[in-house]
Amino acid sequence: MHKDIQEILLTSDQIQARIRELGQELLRDYGDKNPVFVGVLKGVVVFYADMIRAFDAHCQLDFMWISSYKGTQSTGTMNVRQDVSADLTGRHVVILEDILDSGRSLQFTRDHLISKGAASVKICTLLDKPEGRAEGFDIQADYVGFTVPNAFVVGFGLDYNEKYRNLPYVGVLKPEVYEKKENP
Ligand code: 5GP
Ligand code: MG
Repeated sequence: MHKDIQEILLTSDQIQARIRELGQELLRDYGDKNPVFVGVLKGVVVFYADMIRAFDAHCQLDFMWISSYKGTQSTGTMNVRQDVSADLTGRHVVILEDILDSGRSLQFTRDHLISKGAASVKICTLLDKPEGRAEGFDIQADYVGFTVPNAFVVGFGLDYNEKYRNLPYVGVLKPEVYEKKENP
């Protein structure tokens, strides 16, 4: 698995240090609000587990599962595969995401959660790829872990065809991995 990585962009230690800082920022803004952290599955799970433990106050956990992506190319169409379970009426919601790229997923998710009557909806993303934003999707995250270049990254929850999510760092795949056929 590690041999498929061309370059490590963010080490495990760098990510953990930044998550601790984000935890402090969120605590300052939401410490007395009992926010609902809505994780967008599946890519967020690794970041999510660390992020909630860096938030040292009451909070509620919830998840949404949307799908839009095939390989390295977005299909552009959004589906809610699994909706949140909590009643969000009047609640302060923070969406947790692995990466903000074209902006389609987060715009869709944010609009969806606002329509459920949340008092506020903010976005916290581990990675932001500003150069990837699609036309008409000038969405910005309120809390950003790291800004990354316009390359396809894997690890720390992010996959390529469902692999590499368990890498403890964020890296760039070697080009030959894309060229190879799927194998188990
Ligand atoms: P967006 O809707 O902003 O284009 O993309 C958001 C989703 O696309 C992310 O949650 C992630 O699943 C996927 N995605 C976007 N860029 C990358 C990337 O560089 N690597 C991986 N593994 N997934 C990405
Ligand atoms: Mg995702």
